[in-house]
Amino acid sequence: MLLKAGARVTVGAQVLAPELREWLQLERIAWRAGTYQSEWLDGAWLVIAATRSRPLNARIAADGQARQRLVNVVDDPALSSFQIPAVIDRSPLLVAISSGGAAPMLARRLRERIESLLDPALGSLLQIAQRYRARIRARYDDLAARRRFYDWLHDGPVHASLRAAQPVQAEQQLVNALANRKEAQIPGSVALVGAGPGDPGLLTLRALRALNEADVILHDALISEPILDLARRDAKRIAVGKRGGAMHTPQATIHALLLEHARAGKRVVRLKGGDPFVFGRGGEELEFLREHGVAYEVVPGITAALACAAYSGVPLTHRDHAQSVRLVTAHCQQSFNTLDWSDLARERQTLAIYMGVSQLDELTLQLIAHGRAADTQFALIENGSLPQQRTLTGTLRALPTLAARHAISAPALLILGEVAEQADASHWYGELLGEPPRRFAVPRTLADAA
Ligand code: SAH
Repeated sequence: MLLKAGARVTVGAQVLAPELREWLQLERIAWRAGTYQSEWLDGAWLVIAATRSRPLNARIAADGQARQRLVNVVDDPALSSFQIPAVIDRSPLLVAISSGGAAPMLARRLRERIESLLDPALGSLLQIAQRYRARIRARYDDLAARRRFYDWLHDGPVHASLRAAQPVQAEQQLVNALANRKEAQIPGSVALVGAGPGDPGLLTLRALRALNEADVILHDALISEPILDLARRDAKRIAVGKRGGAMHTPQATIHALLLEHARAGKRVVRLKGGDPFVFGRGGEELEFLREHGVAYEVVPGITAALACAAYSGVPLTHRDHAQSVRLVTAHCQQSFNTLDWSDLARERQTLAIYMGVSQLDELTLQLIAHGRAADTQFALIENGSLPQQRTLTGTLRALPTLAARHAISAPALLILGEVAEQADASHWYGELLGEPPRRFAVPRTLADAA
């Protein structure tokens, strides 16, 4: 940290550890060999004592004090004249957290929290602001106008462009705004955000930041309460979409809501289960926003197939058994009829089927009829990644019966293929349901048994 901050570092020690020896050779540090001498402190601005001996540390602290040096003794606030804070670096912005040496662990935890709140683009934003500071001042000599301009800079399109990794465009937007000199309006925007399958721990940092900054959250009915709890307290929440085919908000209504709030200058988060681009109509919403000139960004989420596979211990691909994995939706009769069943019935591929549980009979029938072996393994994961997760395993032929017996209900995801066999041994989250003696398939007739 000292080197990163630009300090010239001298290490006083009898021997150097290998890493420090390397740094010495690279001339990153200088070395005072031998036993401690108080003269070592003469040329220094800052002293850090980190020996194992408290009396020696105390002597160094006293020598430092006599010379009016700032001294930190590692893990010893009583001997220290300054504490080393936990630092969040978005240079030129630095956030330092100190507990005055009382609770460095707590300071470290807080640092992690704040680190996740400050997006990495903030550093670049401040660098631009720094470079244009004089010009901004000259343009807006009225303090209130200048404040409004900075609000625009921090919350508007310049920051959005930096977050989208478009620094040239960002700078151009700033230059244009300065040239036009019109009152800077903060335009509304929409972030299509994937909330993951349910476990709040599966949100991305970027999703968390979007939730923190949202004025309005349009969320699917399936989004769990603990995830919504992470959002800004005063954000307006609107539940849209449907649950198991029950209440249904027409897509056109969702579009209209997005537009209405974005045009009112709000930051809208459209929060969707899993990933917005996997069976989530994210594509349609994006197209709509683009046509209406609304600024947007897309934050991916962990889709149900990935989460359910992970939380049931089923690898989706396998060197020996599955060279590909297919995400399939089997939601309504319509999409059923357009599926290429013989293609889906092929071996050596894993099917991850997003589905309504009412479709299981038909699904099983079609797959077997088109040639998928009836003893292909499945794992059916209900409420994947949520505390009430249940994983049902078995063979394809028994799927509808088993699912009915255990009353599996939505949301559930079906993983079908050789890899599903691993669930019995590797499953680690929630309850595992199944038929223990499954490996010795029950013969259906005496002839089979013979
Ligand atoms: N965009 C979402 C999918 C929406 S379609 C995604 O990427 O995950 C809805 C279907 O997803 C449900 O019918 C169910 O099959 C599946 N699904 C969503 N969340 C699930 C969960 N927690 N457990 C199991 N399946 C889930």
